[in-house]
Amino acid sequence: MRIHPLVPSLLLLGTLSFTAACSSGPGEPSGSAGAASARPGSTPGPSPVRSVDPSKIKGLEIVSDSSENKSCPFATSYPDVPGAEAMTAAMKKYVERRLATFRSNSAACEGGAEGLELNISHQFLVASGDVLGVRLSTQDPSSAGSGLSATTYWYDGKAGAYRTAPGLVAEDARTAFLGALKDRLKGREGVDAASLDDTLSDPASRAAVLDDMAFTADGGLRVAFDRGDVGVPAAGALTVTLSKETVTPWLSAFGKRVQRQTVTPSRSLDLGATHTPTQAVPTHTASGDDDTNCKRVRCLALTFDDGPAVPETATLLTYLARYKARATFFTVGQNVAAHPDLVRAAARAGNEIGNHSWNHPDLTKLARGQVVSQLNRTSAAIEAATGKAPTLFRPPYGAVNPRVRAATRLSPVLWDVDTEDWKYRDADKVARTVIDKVRRNDVVLMHDIHPTSVAAVPQILRTLTARGYHFVTVSHLRATL
Ligand code: ZN
Repeated sequence: MRIHPLVPSLLLLGTLSFTAACSSGPGEPSGSAGAASARPGSTPGPSPVRSVDPSKIKGLEIVSDSSENKSCPFATSYPDVPGAEAMTAAMKKYVERRLATFRSNSAACEGGAEGLELNISHQFLVASGDVLGVRLSTQDPSSAGSGLSATTYWYDGKAGAYRTAPGLVAEDARTAFLGALKDRLKGREGVDAASLDDTLSDPASRAAVLDDMAFTADGGLRVAFDRGDVGVPAAGALTVTLSKETVTPWLSAFGKRVQRQTVTPSRSLDLGATHTPTQAVPTHTASGDDDTNCKRVRCLALTFDDGPAVPETATLLTYLARYKARATFFTVGQNVAAHPDLVRAAARAGNEIGNHSWNHPDLTKLARGQVVSQLNRTSAAIEAATGKAPTLFRPPYGAVNPRVRAATRLSPVLWDVDTEDWKYRDADKVARTVIDKVRRNDVVLMHDIHPTSVAAVPQILRTLTARGYHFVTVSHLRATL
């Protein structure tokens, strides 16, 4: 991506541009040709990027952060894969920088009016043999242009090195490669040949715009340009796909290995990690259905959003089992895909699994098709993990409107008590908030991606159990009231 000056880009925004901003972005499931074709001006590649099953990546952790507050809406995620520390560090640096900028620019984060949303989600491009590729997709309407950008990150396990997208191409083939890109871009609507030459001949701007490349399932190289990178913003995002035959002679040795692992993935990933943590999955099993009658006793529905997370969710399940408490997990699809075993363990222990969208966008800002995709894709991941499709969803940021409700059969669940645990990373404060605020039959909002929130749970369960509360799922609460 390139950082665009705000004012000129705004001047260039036309009707098309506003449509584009609303109809693409984190609402579109990444990882398919659909994501590319949703962007105006783009041409879908002949063959989509092959999808990767992240649950097969040993020791994977998804690093998530989010708010659940309409006045400061953000959700970020990136993967931490053992062995690829240098690449993880690069993604972490990027995400933290964007988040810090967002939070410092957004007066709304201190409370106030509804804010513009920052969303950074991830997609695995290849994770096999000794290569790893990840795309981070960012939507930040407070930045200039469309506010949409994507960057691919690469790790070469053989060399033990983090690489950026241009590292897929051999140094001595750069001129031929750039020539082919120019040929394919010139003549496209909104692309000016002279300024394209300038952009691609300057090393700094070239590196900035050539930051999203990945192989298609048939070995072609798909080069994607963010809106405004190589054409006027109104032209939208542009992609060029070079066929396998064309691009193969220009690839670096690393690029050839990435291409081979994309087309014919190995059975496993080995980046030469010196330590791969084994992740405990609790084995508690619920003893039959819950017979708590919330008409007769004091009930509470604890809800945990944004997970599952490693190692927090497993720890939380152990605490819940210790007090025979049940809870509801509003899971994010991209995390379910990474850790289906944790979701299965939560369900087996008698907890309810709800849908919290695929990558946590504000659903009210998306087109209907994108809302459907966000929710259906997540429900499918939950059903694949647990054998049971969810019936509840929690809209990210609690943002829901009649259009979102009409797009799904899932029943929306908001909350009565907000711990604001995403903001206050203090276990004692979180516990005291719940203990002081709850009333009978309340739904309590927490997040199991934060160690401090999970650490608050034993105190909550101990104190409130002593006060006669029973911890039930949201569906159980609703059914027995
Ligand atoms: Zn959330």
